Amino acid sequence: MTDYRRLRVALLGAGAVGSQVAAILLKHGDELADRAGAALDLVGIAVRNPDAPRDVELPRELLTTDAEELIVGADIVIELMGGIEPARTDIVTALGSGADVVTANKALLATHGPEIFDAADQVGASVYYEAAAAGAIPIIRPLRDSLAGDRVNRIMGIVNGTTNYILDRMDREGSEFADVLADAQALGYAEADPTADVEGYDAAQKAAILASLAFHTAVPLDAVHREGITKVDAQLMDAARHAGYVIKLLAVCERLTGQGEVSPSGEAISVRVYPTLIPREHPLASVHGANNAVFVQAAAAGDLMFYGAGAGGVQTASAVLGDVVSAARRHIAGGVGVGESTRANLPVLPIGRVTTRYQITLEVSDEPGVLATVAGILSEGRVSIATVEQSVLDVAGDRADEAPGTARIVIGTHPSLEQDLSDTVARLAESGVVGRVVSVLRVEGD
Ligand code: NAP
Repeated sequence: MTDYRRLRVALLGAGAVGSQVAAILLKHGDELADRAGAALDLVGIAVRNPDAPRDVELPRELLTTDAEELIVGADIVIELMGGIEPARTDIVTALGSGADVVTANKALLATHGPEIFDAADQVGASVYYEAAAAGAIPIIRPLRDSLAGDRVNRIMGIVNGTTNYILDRMDREGSEFADVLADAQALGYAEADPTADVEGYDAAQKAAILASLAFHTAVPLDAVHREGITKVDAQLMDAARHAGYVIKLLAVCERLTGQGEVSPSGEAISVRVYPTLIPREHPLASVHGANNAVFVQAAAAGDLMFYGAGAGGVQTASAVLGDVVSAARRHIAGGVGVGESTRANLPVLPIGRVTTRYQITLEVSDEPGVLATVAGILSEGRVSIATVEQSVLDVAGDRADEAPGTARIVIGTHPSLEQDLSDTVARLAESGVVGRVVSVLRVEGD
C-alpha cells in the first residue's frame, strides 16, 4: 500500500447516515486513500449512547460520548448528528482548530450558514455539504463549481421525498392525504411527527441552501415563502389530472429582472415552496415515489435535470464520502479553502411581488350571470383569465359538502402578480356569488 500522509477523521453521529459513512470508511479505506491521496484514519465516533443498537455493527472502541475530545486534533470533522446544538458549536470549534468540516445538516446551514461560513473563512478552512440539499444527488457542486461561469435563472426542485411519495400515491391511486400519510408512516417514509415534511419546512431549508448558491446571495430561511401539502385532497388531484397537470411540492428559486426600485442592478430573487400544478409532460412530473429531482435553467447551459435518491442512510453516505475525499485532497494540497460566493447580494422579494399563473377553483351558485360577476371581479383585480372550465367533479349537489344549486368552476389565469391575485380571491370570497374558494394553486413549468 502507498505510504500516504495520514489524516485524522472524526465522525459526530452514527445514525442512519453516520453509521453507513463509518462502515464505508472502515471497509473501503484503501480505495478512498488512493482517491484522496491521503490515508483516512477514523479516530472516533461521537454518539449519545455508545451501547444503542445500530444499523451497522461498529467497533465499540471507536464510540464515545465526548465529541469535543474527538474534534481536538482532527483534520476532517464529519458532522452527522443533525439539529442545531451541539452541531453548531462543534462545527465552529472544529473550524477554529483548523479542521475542514463535512456536514449534511440542512437545518443548521439554512439557519446559521453565514456564521459557519464566516468561521471557515477566518481560518481558511472549508465546509462541504453536498448531502444537505438533496441526499445522494450531486447538486451542490454543480451549482457551486460546474455552473460558476454561467447564470442560473431558475431552479425547480422536488427536494422532499416524503411529500413526493404521498402526492405520487394520491395521484396514482386517487387516495386521500391522511390515508397515504398513515401508510407512509407505517412504511418508514414519514416520521411519526410529519410536520417538517408535510408543512414544507424541510423543503424550505433546502430551497434556502440552493438559492444561496445559485444566486451568490445569502438567503435567510425566513425569506423563503412556505406552504405545505396538507390541503391537497383527492378531488384537487383528480381535477389536476383531468386538466393535464400533476401536483408536486416544488421549491422554486427564481431570478427576477425589472426590479429597479429594490435593486441597483434591477435584479432580485424569489424563493418559495408550495404545492404546484406542473404539466404532466414536464420532466419533474415523472419523478415518482420518494425520489428527488432538481431542474435547473441556466442562461448558457439551458435546462439541466438532476435526479435520484434524496434521502436514505447509505445513499446519503455516498455524498458525504465524496465530500470527505474533497476535504482530504484540499488538506493535502494546502492553501486557503474557497469560501461561499455571496457577493451578488440580491434582494429576496416577498411572495406578493412574484408573478405566476394560477388555477382557481370556486364553488358558485348555479345561476345566470354568476360567471360574468366572477369575470368582472377578476378583471378589476388585474387578473386576466386564460381558461374557464366547469370542473369534472361538478355535478351540482351530488356531494355531501356541496349545497344543491351550486356549481364548481376552474379558472386558469395568465401570469398575474401574487398580490393582485390574493386581493382578488379575497374579493371573490366576499362577493356573494362564490360559496367557497376551493383552492388556489400556482402553475409552474409550462
Ligand atoms: P439520526 O439517525 O437521528 O442519527 C443521529 C446520530 O447523532 C445518532 O447516532 C446520535 O447518537 C448522534 N447524536 C445526536 N445528538 C448527539 C449529541 N448531542 N452528541 C453526540 N451524538 C449525538 O440522523 P440521520 O438520519 O443519520 O441524519 C444525520 C444528518 O444527516 C442530519 O443533519 C440530517 O438532516 C442529514 N440527512 C439525513 C438524511 C437521511 O436520509 N437520514 C438525508 C440527507 C441528510 P445515538 O445513536 O447514540 O442516539
